[in-house]
Amino acid sequence: MFKALVLNQEEKKTIATIEQLDNSHLPEGDVLIDVDYSSLNYKDGLAITGKGKIIRNFPMVPGIDLAGTVVSSEDARYQEGDKVVLTGWGVGENHWGGMSQRARLKADWLVPLPKGLDSKKAMMVGTAGFTAMLCVQALLDADVKPDAGEILVTGASGGVGSVAVTLLAQLGYKVAAVTGRVEQNGPLLEKLGASRIIDRSEFEEPARPLEKQVWAGAVDTVGSKVLSKVLAQMDYNSAVAACGLAGGFDLPTTVMPFILRNVRLQGVDSVMCPTEKRIAAWEKLVELLPESFYEQACTEVELDAAPKYAEDITNGQVTGRVVIKL
Ligand code: NAP
Repeated sequence: MFKALVLNQEEKKTIATIEQLDNSHLPEGDVLIDVDYSSLNYKDGLAITGKGKIIRNFPMVPGIDLAGTVVSSEDARYQEGDKVVLTGWGVGENHWGGMSQRARLKADWLVPLPKGLDSKKAMMVGTAGFTAMLCVQALLDADVKPDAGEILVTGASGGVGSVAVTLLAQLGYKVAAVTGRVEQNGPLLEKLGASRIIDRSEFEEPARPLEKQVWAGAVDTVGSKVLSKVLAQMDYNSAVAACGLAGGFDLPTTVMPFILRNVRLQGVDSVMCPTEKRIAAWEKLVELLPESFYEQACTEVELDAAPKYAEDITNGQVTGRVVIKL
């Protein structure tokens, strides 16, 4: 028997309970895994609280990330005892996820745990850190150089934002961090490598189609009017990597930044990211994240506490990463 957080729906409300299950309850898959750690992402928060329509088929075990040890495998790429990490692919949304001591998954979804990481560290990185790496990679691919000017990160004290700040600083970029919690999180963001902290309220004023050019690049995790302001302030020929909607899924903008300033808006998706790109991103994460990253901005909780933290993350009250010990 093992413990899992199970979501059910009653009268259109999502109910989360801890249940004792056995392997026969698990969905189809070719690799059976003992989960060491999962993590809590904004999307998990939406799923567990039912605030977002993330899950359509109940019962469901949430947890879009997991790291663990292979118990048995029908796929030649994985053997008993191998350490693996999984993010995305709809796990924790359409297929039972990481908030369970056991998971059965498709081998195609797994990435061997890169050297230099353990399960807990991998979950401190999780989908959020992995997505941050994909955003930073998008700026590198757009040829945004460290000497081009400042890079803006929005939602900076969140999971994606805090890793993006760290990675960019490690790569030698000058980073400006936008946060709604300047007093609470400013010092931490500076520790991660931000050289300037900006209050989110400055980005919530309606944007003019074009404003003064300030940013050589940007990582946006917020969307909506914040992204619209960011776009209006981008330098000529700059690039924005947009991955999130913490402030809303709309985008009240104009074509002006694109057609008059050659601004590029690159969408970033981590869920269906191809395996080769995943492996490269994980390796680069291990190379870039300093040991100090793992010593700060992380809260470890037991599975029972996941619903409370799910509520907190959807209310913007979580700083950095929350990892769940199974
Ligand atoms: P998170 O830890 O909750 O961080 C989001 C941050 O955004 C918060 O810490 C807060 O930062 C800011 N924020 C919260 N509510 C806001 C609001 N109403 N208006 C403006 N800013 C707000 O979430 P996360 O895991 O980092 O994810 C960030 C976003 O990226 C989410 O929308 C998530 O769904 C998305 N995401 C997308 C992908 C992908 O594959 N595309 C992958 C992972 C995540 P401050 O307090 O510092 O302002």
